[in-house]
Amino acid sequence: MVVLIIEDEVDLATTVEYNLKSEGFQVRLAHSGRQGLAAATTDPLPDVIVLDLMLPDLSGTEICRRIRDQERTREIPVIMCTAKGEEIDRVVGFEVGADDYIVKPFSVRELVLRIRALLRRVHRVEGEPSLIRFGRLKIDRDAHRAWVDDAEIGLTALEFRLLHAFMSRKGRVQTRDALLSDVWGIEAEVTTRTVDTHVKRLREKLGDAGAYIETLRGVGYRFKDQPEEASA
Ligand code: CA
Repeated sequence: MVVLIIEDEVDLATTVEYNLKSEGFQVRLAHSGRQGLAAATTDPLPDVIVLDLMLPDLSGTEICRRIRDQERTREIPVIMCTAKGEEIDRVVGFEVGADDYIVKPFSVRELVLRIRALLRRVHRVEGEPSLIRFGRLKIDRDAHRAWVDDAEIGLTALEFRLLHAFMSRKGRVQTRDALLSDVWGIEAEVTTRTVDTHVKRLREKLGDAGAYIETLRGVGYRFKDQPEEASA
């Protein structure tokens, strides 16, 4: 999960960055509005944006409007940081389009809770069901369980996250680095070889369904787009 922080108070931004990283988020910092807008459209797109209302060049409300105006960034949830007494109603209402707000000074713990709540809400709105089926494979996202041909397979928490990361991006190339940051978290002290080891183990546990995970030599992996391809 990538969090973009648009905040001109460098000390505050750095503190928030440090804490979010230790919670497993990837963090991108921008210290001005224009930098922030550029960072909002940079791949990989942020999953959530923490946006300061008072910035030196562009106001947070203007940035939020532009984020909502652009097709690519329209759906990214925004948490607005406001100082006490600023116009919270206007910020959070549809006029500007922020999804939530937090009043300064805030505890980083509270910010993390709000980010997680927002991400949960957004994903629920997107309507991804808890049970996901793909050919012979079935997983329950909430219960962290997986089945092949209705026989449950015992996965570790990490293997489950890995499988879920694959299944949520079917047909798309997944580099080892991307998997490292998504599944292990950016701070994890593991190498890309660890990714290979775990993918190998996951494949073995999946048996025939392990063929859904393709190796792209020198690049990474790809989960098949259609299950039928696996039986060939
Ligand atoms: Ca500010």
